[in-house]
Order: sequence, then structure tokens, then C-alpha cells
Amino acid sequence: MAFEGLAERLQGTFDKIKSRGVVTEADVKEMMREVRLALLEADVNFKVVKKFVNDVKERATGQEVMKSLTPGQQVIKVVNEELTNLMGKEQSKIAVSSKSPTVVMMVGLQGAGKTTTTAKLAQFLRKKNNRKPLMAAADVYRPAAIKQLETLGTELSMPVFSMGDQVSPVEIATRSVEQAKEDHQDYVLIDTAGRLHLDETLMDELVNIKEAVNPDEILLVVDAMTGQDAVNVAESFNEQLGITGVVLTKLDGDTRGGAAISVKAVTDKPIKFAGTGEKIDALEVFHPERMASRILGMGDVLSLIEKAEFSVDEEKAKEMERKMRTADLTFDDFLEQLEQVRGMGPLDELLNMIPGAGKMKGLKNAQVDESQIGRVEAIVRSMTKKEKSEPAIINASRKRRIAKGSGTTIQDVNRLLKQFEDMKKMMKQMSSMSKGKKKGKGNM
Ligand code: GDP
Repeated sequence: MAFEGLAERLQGTFDKIKSRGVVTEADVKEMMREVRLALLEADVNFKVVKKFVNDVKERATGQEVMKSLTPGQQVIKVVNEELTNLMGKEQSKIAVSSKSPTVVMMVGLQGAGKTTTTAKLAQFLRKKNNRKPLMAAADVYRPAAIKQLETLGTELSMPVFSMGDQVSPVEIATRSVEQAKEDHQDYVLIDTAGRLHLDETLMDELVNIKEAVNPDEILLVVDAMTGQDAVNVAESFNEQLGITGVVLTKLDGDTRGGAAISVKAVTDKPIKFAGTGEKIDALEVFHPERMASRILGMGDVLSLIEKAEFSVDEEKAKEMERKMRTADLTFDDFLEQLEQVRGMGPLDELLNMIPGAGKMKGLKNAQVDESQIGRVEAIVRSMTKKEKSEPAIINASRKRRIAKGSGTTIQDVNRLLKQFEDMKKMMKQMSSMSKGKKKGKGNM
């Protein structure tokens, strides 16, 4: 789970100060000593840590906090704001050129996830921004990269421009932009060549491509799991090539979080997207304030709702919403819903976005257990049609029959019935939150 260790340590530190009515300078100092250690342990760049700790200390011991009625909470608010600032204050959007196509160069070392991210981004632009992207296969060095992009293009029914691996990347890039113009595609995402290590040949080649196609955006793809190495790579690419933004991949496997916190502060280039899994829709817009909340264990309900909106089939979602509003959600819907939630990503990652859920003991190490899901399915399939649509009629003798039919116990059946009710409640809440958010749209 992303930031697991850091979130846990910071929350532990904050719990001590949260409800204090009086906070002294010594308290703040003590707290910041722990925060400092937690950040260093999370592999955050030491210069970044130093500045952060000083900034927070200065604000937290200032009048606005000390004189407030809830100084404990104010201190945490200051930490949250400074952490947000560190990661870039506001969300930084992908460039849109005034003349079509917008040219995006994807750069990065081999294995960082460049090709995968190119396809994820193309899918994102089409689904979220209603764009028509062309992907260009200019990674002529990694043996399978071109084929990989072509396969992804076929899967997504999205065009891929390629000229094989015997043509220079500069030529491929240039021709891909011409092709996009001809075909009225409004974005070109150029998957450039990576290398195992940073070297001069790679940089020269990227500079040549940059000069040839004059990109509107140069996105550097780095692997969050490599921590400070990712930050160093970003610094070098920025110095030698000049990048406009960063995509942080494999955040799903990054338990420390150092790269996410340091990249912007070190390079002054924003993180624009985060990769959170191997699937094509596992790409999130990077929101510094939401990420800060997640790290501090305050949850991230907005991202959770967006994830649902992105992964769930729109028609089905509408139908489901109608059913939920009218409260005629059935057990068949429940099964379907279960499948869709599984499609949204690992359960532990989703739980991390729910405020406070990370701290709930029972949920902390929750994992989707496939056999458990199989059991749920069996129970639902042992219900009669009437029971599925009217679970209220399921009395003791019916429970016994269902348990027997599905090879489970009465406790299993009871548990499922309760989960079903809980889920109905949660979905109702989510749909009303989602509606509230839509009303205030425009800043997303
Ligand atoms: P490239 O050499 O930079 O083009 O790297 P690839 O796109 O081939 O990705 C390398 C590996 O990382 C592949 O196995 C991808 O599935 C995986 N990968 C890419 N992005 C993510 C991510 O956000 N999360 C996880 N868990 N894996 C990822």
C-alpha cells in the first residue's frame, strides 16, 4: 500500500497532539523531530526534509496557531498545507496546444513504465478529455517496445504509428506528427527510446527529437519504487533535456513515498499523473492536496469517486444509481457490483482513500480473498429469485436452506446479508457525494 509506513508514523505522531488545547514550542519541536525521522525513513530527500521541517516549525509556533482555540489541530493543518505545497500546491494539467496536434514526448529509463504509461495516457485523454490521440512507437532500442505499443493500441482500438526499428527515432517522431495532422488526431504521444542508464547518447537523441518536433509537453516517466534514484533521474533529465512534468509510476508498490514527496521540490517540475497498477486504467491525475491527505490518513474520497466513474461502465452505473435511489438493489446487482469494485483495483488501495479506514484494525490488512468471493457467489446463487430481490424475507429456515445449498454456514449467510445492507448504505452515501461534487465541477 502506498505510503503505508509514513502514514502510520505520522498519524501516530499526530494522535499525540491532535486534541491538545495548549501546544508549546517544545511540543512542536518534539513532534517535528518525529516527523523529520519519518520523512527521512520514507526516503525523502534530506534537503527537502530540512526545509519542510523549518517551514512547519516557523508557522506552527506562530501566533495563528498558538492563539487559536484548537492549536493541536491547527498544527496538523499546517503540516497538511506545507506537505501540499511541497508536492506542488495545485493539480498541474496536461498541456493543450492552440494548434492541433498537441505533441507530447514520453521519456524515461527502460523499465520505468514508459510504454505502458503512453497507452494509459492515450486512454485517459480519450475517455476523460474527449481527445483523439495517436501513439507513436519511437522506442527502437528495447526489443519488444514497438510490438507492445501496437498490441496496446489494438486492445484499445487506438491508432499507433510505427516504422519498425530500422528507422531513426527522430524520423519516426517527425513523421508521426505529420500523420496525426493528416488524420486529424489532436494529440501525438511519442514513446521515445529508453536506456538502462542515463547516458549521453540517450540524451543527444532525445534533444534531437525535441528539436525536430518542438513538443508542447515532455513527460518524464519515473518509477516511484526507486525512491531517491527516481528523484536523481528527474533532476538529470530536467537539466539536460528540460522536462515539463513527471509521471510517477508504480505508486501502488511504493510503501515509502519519498519520490512523490521530493520530485517537485527538487526539480521544480510538477507530478502530473501517477500510475497505480499494471492495468490500462490504473492512472490517476496527481492532486497534491489529495495526496497529502492520503499520507496524513485523512482519506481521499474524491479520488475514490473518480476511480469509480472511470472504471465503471457508464450505462450500468446509471442503471445502478437508479436502483440505489429507488432502493431496489438486488443480490444479482450485488454480485455485479462486486465484480466492478474488483475491477477498480486492489481493495487495500481503495480502503486507503477512505478517511480513517487505514487506521481501522480489521480493515488494515484486508485483502480480497478470491475464495471468499467464490463463497459469496455460491450463496447468492442458492437464493430463489424472490429472495434475491427481497432479502428481507430471508428468515431462519431460508438461511438454513441457502447455507446448505451453497456449502457454507448460517454465519456466512448472515454476514453476507449484513454486508449487503452496509453496501447499500455506503453506495447511497457515495452517490449523494458524487452528485454534490458534480454540482461544483469546473475545478477538476
Ligand atoms: P518501459 O521500458 O519504460 O517502456 O516500461 P514498460 O511500460 O514496459 O513497463 C515495465 C513494467 O512495469 C511492466 O511490467 C508494466 O506492467 C509495469 N508497470 C508500469 N506502470 C506500472 C504501475 O503504475 N504499477 C505497476 N504495479 N506496474 C507498472
